[in-house]
Amino acid sequence: MNKVNTTRKSAILLIYTGGTIGMKQDVNDLTLKPFDFSQILEEVPEIGKFACKIDSHAFNPPIDSSDVEPSLWQALANLIKEKYEEYDGFIVLHGTDTMSYSASALSFMLDGLTKPVVFTGSQLPIGVPRTDGKENLISAVEIASAKDNEGHAEVPEVCVCFDSILMRGNRSTKINSEEFRAFGSPNFPPLAEAGINIRYNREFIRKPNDWYQSLTINTSLDTRVSILKIHPGITPRVVRNILCGEDTRAVILETYGSGNAPMKKWFLDILDEAAGMDKIIVNVTQCLAGTVNMDIYANGKMLEKAGVIDGYDSTTESALAKLFYLMGKSGDNGWVREMMVKNLKGEISK
Ligand code: ASP
Repeated sequence: MNKVNTTRKSAILLIYTGGTIGMKQDVNDLTLKPFDFSQILEEVPEIGKFACKIDSHAFNPPIDSSDVEPSLWQALANLIKEKYEEYDGFIVLHGTDTMSYSASALSFMLDGLTKPVVFTGSQLPIGVPRTDGKENLISAVEIASAKDNEGHAEVPEVCVCFDSILMRGNRSTKINSEEFRAFGSPNFPPLAEAGINIRYNREFIRKPNDWYQSLTINTSLDTRVSILKIHPGITPRVVRNILCGEDTRAVILETYGSGNAPMKKWFLDILDEAAGMDKIIVNVTQCLAGTVNMDIYANGKMLEKAGVIDGYDSTTESALAKLFYLMGKSGDNGWVREMMVKNLKGEISK
């Protein structure tokens, strides 16, 4: 744990997991390498100007977020729990590729949150002149340390801060691999926007019922989930292998439009077979925005009749994380289905 700034007001823990933001170009071979994170103040002297104490914690080794596994989420949840009383907010520096998965997972794994957990990263390493990393980090620090008039956190949620927009973590999704606006929240308004000032959209920010409750963490995850994206030409064999797979307890069916899939006999037969095996099947749309509504078309209705449950306007990332979390809590698939259609952490509009 490195003490970066000793001025007292809010205290922030900056957790570095890896990703582009923490890389610097090596002067000798010009490759991108993670820099020594205890030097963060040297790289971004601007964060030293905030009237808050910022400590840092780096995971070793730092990883490209394509290598993220649920074990990282468990480690993050444990670290946040361990340090919860010492800090007013947490910033998780993370690669962009799987940031929405991690933010979604943490939103379910942390219960009774009264403090901000802000994920951010960058498209360009912090050591290059046009980096977006500095601005993202500076906005994240300001948001993670922001308090309202009563001294409570402005945003006591797990969120993603990127390119001046603060999004609910479990509503975010990576939408662009090369532009600075890498993330969107297509089905939920931004929680805040950073312009000259940070404008908080307070009507959309979730507040705890009890500001003095303690944080509990759920680190037991069951990862036996597959994702099946429906497409023209999909074969019975592929569908069957995934829906009825031995190691699969739940399947996220990425369907067309408002939740439609082919109405062919073989497809219905496989759904029946999967239902007979007590598989949990969740319907999430392939569209970037909008919601599943299985009542609109006959093809959607037939999925509902086959026992497929409604994923509403969930992102795939959030549906996956929610399944991991619920299945980790209980072996009862009926209970998991019941909870899947409930709005637990603002992840669906219901
Ligand atoms: N591949 C990198 C990662 O997700 C990309 C990034 O950091 O933006 O870790």
